[in-house]
Amino acid sequence: MQTLRASKCGLSTAQLPSYILDVIDALTKAGYEAYIVGGGVRDLILGLNPKDFDAVTNATPAQVKEVFGRRCRIIGRRFELAHVYAGRELVEVATFRAPPKKAVTSASGMILRDNNWGTIEQDFVRRDFSINAMYYQPRKGIVLDFCHAIDDIKNKTLRLLGDPTLRFEEDPVRMLRTLRFAAKLNFSIAPEILEVFTPELTQLLRDISPHRLYDESQKLFTMGHLNRVLPMLIDFGIWHQLFADISPDISTFIERAAINTDQRIQMGKTINPAFFYAVLLWKPFLERCEFYLSKGVVPAEARAQAGLDVLKRQATRTIIPRFAETFIREVWEMQTRLLNPKPQQIQALSTHARFRAGFDFLLLREKSGDDTTQGMGVWWDAYQQMSTDEKERAISQYNRQRAKSRRKATTDDVVETKPVAAITEIEPLVNEPEPRSRRERKSRTKSERPVQPTSLNGSEIGYDHPILKRKRVKRDLSQVIFGPTQ
Ligand code: ATP
Ligand code: MG
Repeated sequence: MQTLRASKCGLSTAQLPSYILDVIDALTKAGYEAYIVGGGVRDLILGLNPKDFDAVTNATPAQVKEVFGRRCRIIGRRFELAHVYAGRELVEVATFRAPPKKAVTSASGMILRDNNWGTIEQDFVRRDFSINAMYYQPRKGIVLDFCHAIDDIKNKTLRLLGDPTLRFEEDPVRMLRTLRFAAKLNFSIAPEILEVFTPELTQLLRDISPHRLYDESQKLFTMGHLNRVLPMLIDFGIWHQLFADISPDISTFIERAAINTDQRIQMGKTINPAFFYAVLLWKPFLERCEFYLSKGVVPAEARAQAGLDVLKRQATRTIIPRFAETFIREVWEMQTRLLNPKPQQIQALSTHARFRAGFDFLLLREKSGDDTTQGMGVWWDAYQQMSTDEKERAISQYNRQRAKSRRKATTDDVVETKPVAAITEIEPLVNEPEPRSRRERKSRTKSERPVQPTSLNGSEIGYDHPILKRKRVKRDLSQVIFGPTQ
């Protein structure tokens, strides 16, 4: 073990938010050892902005609770931890762990229960990568480095502590973490890991709960280097373990969406990880729609059923929470609405809660060469840039154009003739089932519900725009099932 001077590693208390110092100080004052460990230390040394700070101590979770009282909650069964609320932040405070007892590992060597408290030396060998096992005591200004982790940081190498096969067997999610950190930090993976990291070994991920895999997939999508990690998921055979029916092929659409996601994160914009699931599952969704259409199912019903089928299949790998599933189906349903909007609903559509995501999705499709969007991505893009007056003019112009084409219409050019003023609402995009759990029901915020549309206004739409040229096919109303997506 070497004790490094924190300042020599480029660390200083000035870089630390007060909430993590408060946690360290409170534990120290109560007579315990306390360190910052993991990604926070690693990222600061690398000059990156840490996502969060984790603390580790020799106090048991119950003792941590004594120190912080109501600010502390003990969580987890397999892996008991204390969550300490410091201001608006949450700090995970772990207790030094000793090696797990034999009785709590599964037949394949996976650790099922892990609450055997130990010393800092024992704790260090339980961590995954050397670079994640540096213990920083900010008040003493020291970093404890048990394995020359500082050299791995300098050499940009990701090295597992201990025997890689064993460490992957203990917790197969470490395979995902390997790719995530290699991509995020742009580190090379140590040769001894590459040697054992085979597609066969990724089969171990089948033992991991789809809930945990969903969480891990979110971390992959939101780390800011999605575009770099996607080919790695394919190369290492992880793709098949994460995605049930998505062929391991990075289409232009997927690639663009990944780059777009990374750029948004770089700019500090929020991203909804479910959006990327909508992108990944788009092709299987279309194929499933085709299947139902070929069976003579009407389009709206085909879309609804296809959406449910595809998400159900995906749930065998990663369980997407119900609210995120609804978001995905709404984004898909928006594609139909945006491609073929009723002129009276253009304004209402543009204020719909799901408009922005649906539009981004449409534009991404279009920019990646999908000509089935018929130029509507660019059209909606232009529409949004218009002033209110321009929009009003454009929609009335559009209406006039529409009326003109209606007058010219032959018998097979019949369109629905609802009076403009009568249409003030647009129907929900998808029939949203009740959330599965009370927590999900609570977390479904008001803002996620469709916004009630405002009154109808106009917009300036060029005469040659595809929306005006589209041939309107008479609908056989006897065939239409009036569901929520009609
Ligand atoms: P980031 O928070 O940037 O994603 P991190 O390294 O902090 O990265 P966390 O998941 O927050 O990752 O975990 C904190 C620390 O706990 C890690 O740095 C590592 O030392 C340890 N750790 C987390 N998951 C595992 C695991 N599956 N096996 C062994 N150690 C782990
Ligand atoms: Mg962390």
